[in-house]
Amino acid sequence: MFDVTVVGGGPTGLMLAGELRLHGAHVVVLERDAEPPKVVRSLGLHVRSIEVMDQRGLLERFLEHGQRYKLGGYFAGINKPWPERMDTAHGYILGIPQTSTERLLAEHAAEAGADLRRGTELVGLSQDEDAVTADLADGTRLRSRYLVGCDGGRSTVRKLVGVGFPGEPTRHETLLGVMELAAAPEEVTAVMTEVRRTQLRFGAGPVGDGDGLYRVVVPAAGVTEDRAAPPTFEEFRQQLRATAGTDFGVHSPRWLSRFGDATRLAERYRVGRVLLAGDAAHIHPPLGGQGLNLGIQDAFNLGWKLAAELGGWAPDGLLDSYHTERHPVAADVLDNTRAQTALMALDPGPQAARRLLSELMDFEDVNRHLIEKITAVSVRYDFGEGHRLLGRRLRDVELRRGHLYGLMHRGRGLLLDQTGRLSVAGWTDRVDHVVDASAELDVPALLLRPDGHVAWVGDDQQELLTRLPRWFGAGMG
Ligand SMILES: Cc1cc2nc3c(=O)[nH]c(=O)nc-3n(C[C@H](O)[C@H](O)[C@H](O)COP(=O)(O)OP(=O)(O)OC[C@H]3O[C@@H](n4cnc5c(N)ncnc54)[C@H](O)[C@@H]3O)c2cc1C
Repeated sequence: MFDVTVVGGGPTGLMLAGELRLHGAHVVVLERDAEPPKVVRSLGLHVRSIEVMDQRGLLERFLEHGQRYKLGGYFAGINKPWPERMDTAHGYILGIPQTSTERLLAEHAAEAGADLRRGTELVGLSQDEDAVTADLADGTRLRSRYLVGCDGGRSTVRKLVGVGFPGEPTRHETLLGVMELAAAPEEVTAVMTEVRRTQLRFGAGPVGDGDGLYRVVVPAAGVTEDRAAPPTFEEFRQQLRATAGTDFGVHSPRWLSRFGDATRLAERYRVGRVLLAGDAAHIHPPLGGQGLNLGIQDAFNLGWKLAAELGGWAPDGLLDSYHTERHPVAADVLDNTRAQTALMALDPGPQAARRLLSELMDFEDVNRHLIEKITAVSVRYDFGEGHRLLGRRLRDVELRRGHLYGLMHRGRGLLLDQTGRLSVAGWTDRVDHVVDASAELDVPALLLRPDGHVAWVGDDQQELLTRLPRWFGAGMG
């Protein structure tokens, strides 16, 4: 029997598998598609996901395959400079295609020992007190102690466990593809500038080194039943002509796809031994580029909690805190995409609101507030009253010996102690104790959860002893 069945080998499932393997859990990832996808949806990682990769020692490989940039236009396409003084050591966007992100996460999960089974579809499931049974399309069955549905917006797992997915349906559908354009770059830019005055869902951006290859988006004629079915090339060309008055002489499509703007949030992230993460739990329009990032961060929150359950040391309520913490974060992302959608409408009212927000974003604090929302660095879990850092993730800081995130690769708790007087005796199998100092930290000591969120700040050993069990269970001896 496996410890965990992860259904779906997209970014969320692969990240989760890697996290679970850090703790030695026996993990199988079931992926319906026999081959990795060609379609590139996400184009980048935001600050918090970049930090997550750094915390697990994966950042170097991502940096090798991505490009760092500070890009305005991250909120409703309103173009403002990247704000100063962001609370992070990684104040940039990492441009990296989703296909590369998935490949790197798959490599990491496999190196860590996860069993990735492509061409394997889950079609049914049932659970009892001890385990979950997954029914596979080939007629076989697989049992595991937990099962996590990371199987995307149309999640079979979510439907099978009967979790509601309320929200708004798709109202606008958009076609997306990569193809060659015969038209000169100047003509493409001129047409795009003109058309975008009245249609913000149209765009064409070069891919690669100026060899005529473009990523093109254009509104679809209507809303299809099955968005998994790609458009035909003829449909794409027709829509280009209808929207831009020209098809730019497009030819040689590499891939074509379509996406909608539905906005929905699962009512519950957990039903017994079955959990939901990533797009299986929340969908929204791709404005601000947040969906993949949200899924990676769901996995980062869930992995160590599930491992704690499997390891037998999880305190009461730890696994349920996955829903309590992550559901409101997704609700906030859904709301900001709703707001962005409204601000992109071309009617006079939304346009006036857009101009007003643009004025407000000239205030550095407003600009920073919005980017900290989009990049998820302002996420604060509710751990109760206390220090301003409590519940927030801590940025990477330089220490006398190395840097903070370099101490977190193993996914354990961490007591960073600048006093040298504290102890985690009783929890040393789950929590590392590092005595070091940082000019960037004005607190005596911090207890960090494996996901880097601050669980305690102080210098009092007795107080620390009351906080450790909340996240790390009973101490030994
Ligand atoms: C045009 C577009 C642009 C986007 N841009 C960005 C961006 O810039 N930044 C960003 O953060 N996000 C972006 N997103 C969103 C991002 O692509 C998704 O949020 C992300 O892919 C979600 O990852 P996931 O692993 O949760 O789900 P998915 O990527 O959907 O993966 C789910 C996997 O589960 C598999 N599966 C499904 N059913 C089964 C089954 N029954 N059995 C086994 N396997 C199954 C599927 O084959 C798939 O591989 C964009 C989305 C679109 C459409």
